[in-house]
Amino acid sequence: MNNNLLLEAAQLDTADGLAAFRTRFLLPENKIYLDGNSLGALPAHVPARVADAIERQWGQDLISSWNKNAWIDLPSKVGAKIAALVGANADEVIAADNTSINVFKVLLAALQLRPERKVIVSDIDNFPTDLYMVQGVNTLLGQQYELRFVKRADLETALDTHTAVLLLTEVDYRTGERLDMAALTARAQAVGALCIWDLAHSAGAFPVVLNACKVDFAIGCGYKYLNGGPGAPAFLFVAREHQTRVLPVLTGWMGHAEPFAFTPDYAPASGMLRFTAGTPSVLGLTALDAALEIWDQASIAAVEQKSFALTDLFMRAMQPLEATYGFCCVTPLLPAKRGSQVSYTHPDGYAIMQALIAAGVIGDFRAPDIVRFGFAPLYLSFVDVLEAVQRLEQIMQTGAWQQPEFSNRRKVT
Ligand SMILES: *Cc1c(COP(=O)(O)O)cnc(C)c1O
Repeated sequence: MNNNLLLEAAQLDTADGLAAFRTRFLLPENKIYLDGNSLGALPAHVPARVADAIERQWGQDLISSWNKNAWIDLPSKVGAKIAALVGANADEVIAADNTSINVFKVLLAALQLRPERKVIVSDIDNFPTDLYMVQGVNTLLGQQYELRFVKRADLETALDTHTAVLLLTEVDYRTGERLDMAALTARAQAVGALCIWDLAHSAGAFPVVLNACKVDFAIGCGYKYLNGGPGAPAFLFVAREHQTRVLPVLTGWMGHAEPFAFTPDYAPASGMLRFTAGTPSVLGLTALDAALEIWDQASIAAVEQKSFALTDLFMRAMQPLEATYGFCCVTPLLPAKRGSQVSYTHPDGYAIMQALIAAGVIGDFRAPDIVRFGFAPLYLSFVDVLEAVQRLEQIMQTGAWQQPEFSNRRKVT
């Protein structure tokens, strides 16, 4: 490794205003975690909070906890915290269900607002669950929609006055490319369509400005950069102007105006609560709620700046490996054009990533040939970044990745 880079990394760490947050996460010794974009790390204070929710709130206070420990308010409380990170008002976001279910909910809400239009536009390279949910919605509605799933470059031409909805993910899960939310939202709205944004790889990675971009609907994950834990509740955003104009399709009692009136007829709650259906996942919300306290001190703008610097250092350190070992960078070089990840294609990407994980650098692999590295600025140092590249170089130099065990495909890649 180039000595100048090592020196630069040490200097960047010394000047890093976010360095102290590292101690607020529990991470295994001697591992470098570059997968916080898939499953965020465990904040150190979360285990005690979840234990309290189980032992005291559930164990001792039992059902009185819905009021006494305010379990019933968790979806709105957590939603308000997430709203602050995504440029929304506190009453425009609620935590509920998972991202896929929330795609279903906001898509059906948006379609209601454009009943005469019969085209749904999305990016063919969108995260598959989003495309799958659109297909399921269309089946439910008797295949009355034309689904225009097109290449990113063709999105604008795919939009016309028949388009009801444009559904996009802000950061490409494979390449890390960050789409221009303001411009694409404006394009969709210029033809009278509504825009839905998936923020799975955005929330907690950089400032999202939903209202400044006049976004209609959004959804996102709780377990990626928000560190809510495996299977954490997701969130959804509905712009204020739309909230009372759409009727929810999952008309459960928790979204009722008066759940405890127990009337036979459904009447929706007035605000975001109408976009919840059943009993909230209290333990999951407890972990996510606690994890979000980090943001009381951490600035999302500072997180983005550090992300730019981390990914930039990583890309520069990787350059010699690209030529020598056949890695090809597919992430935009311009910082503002990428999320907090860097990806390379390599024909032996799967085995290389398995060998790298065995060497203590945890990234992941996305079919067909992408090795992906996520950078969570709250718990990653610049020296870590170079150490990761050094370990990868070692694996390539020695050919360690060619050991047969590294080619066994596991269920989750
Ligand atoms: C991770 C991810 C999801 C996950 O959806 P779940 O329903 O929570 O499994 C959805 N959309 C995108 C873009 C993602 O990256």
